[in-house]
Amino acid sequence: MSAARILLVGADGRMGQAVVAAAAQDPGLTITAGIERGDPIGPAIESCDVVIDFSAADATEAVCQACAQYGKPLVLGTTGHSATQKEAVVAAAQKIPLVFAANFSVGVNVLFALTRRAAELLGDDFDLEVVEMHHRTKKDAPSGTAKRLLEILQEVRRGQHAIPAHSIRAGDIVGEHTVIFAGAGERLELTHRAASRETFAVGALRAARWALEQPAGLYNMEDVLGL
Ligand code: NAD
Repeated sequence: MSAARILLVGADGRMGQAVVAAAAQDPGLTITAGIERGDPIGPAIESCDVVIDFSAADATEAVCQACAQYGKPLVLGTTGHSATQKEAVVAAAQKIPLVFAANFSVGVNVLFALTRRAAELLGDDFDLEVVEMHHRTKKDAPSGTAKRLLEILQEVRRGQHAIPAHSIRAGDIVGEHTVIFAGAGERLELTHRAASRETFAVGALRAARWALEQPAGLYNMEDVLGL
C-alpha cells in the first residue's frame, strides 16, 4: 500500500518541524505539502489524503472549510480557539472525520482518564487546582490541555464551582500539567511532563492514520487511543 499523503499546516513552526521529523521515521505516511501563513490551501489540499494542522487559531476556520469542501480528514492540534472558531470545527466534522485534541501525547490522555477517576473517588471534599507550565512564547493561557482537565473536573463536580487554573510561561518548557486534589491532612497530585515535542508529533501521525479509516465525526485523542 502506498504511503498516505499529508498536507501540513504550520509547517515551519515548532510542532510543524516535529511532525516533519516524526513522519521521516514512518514509512506509512509522507508529507507531500506544507503551508505557512499567507499560502493558499486550495492547490495543496487536492492532492493529499489527510491534513494535519499545528498553526494558529485564526487559521482554523479556513482550514476546516477547505477540508470539508475537498472531503479530506483533518487532525487539528492548534489550541486557543474562540467560540466562533470552535463552531467551524463542529460544522466541518459533520462532513469529514476530524480529530481535535488539545494534546496528542499518550501520557496526557491517560492523565485525563486518571483525573476523572481520582475526582470521582475523592469526592467533593477535596479542593481542585490545575497548574500548567509552558515556554515563554506560547500564545494561549490556560493551555488547551489545562482547559480539557478543567472540563473533566467540572463534569465530575457537575459545574458546582469554578476550578482555578494557574499558567506559568517561562523559558523553553515544552509542557507540564499538574492536577492538585487537596483535602484535610493529605494532598494528591497528578503530573505529566513532556520532555520533547516528539510525543505530540507521533500522536498526531497516529491520529492521521486512524482518521483515514473513520466516518465523518468529531473525535479526540481518547477516541484514537480507545481510552
Ligand atoms: P509555532 O508558533 O512555533 O508555529 C506555528 C506555525 O504556524 C508558524 O510557523 C506560523 O507561521 C504558522 N502559521 C500561523 N498562521 C498560519 C496560517 N494562517 N496558515 C498556515 N500557517 C500558519 O507554534 P507551535 O509551538 O508549533 O504550536 C502551534 C499550535 O499547536 C499552537 O496552537 C499550540 O498551542 C498547539 N500545540 C498543540 C499540541 C497538541 O498536542 N495538540 C502540542 C503542542 C502545541
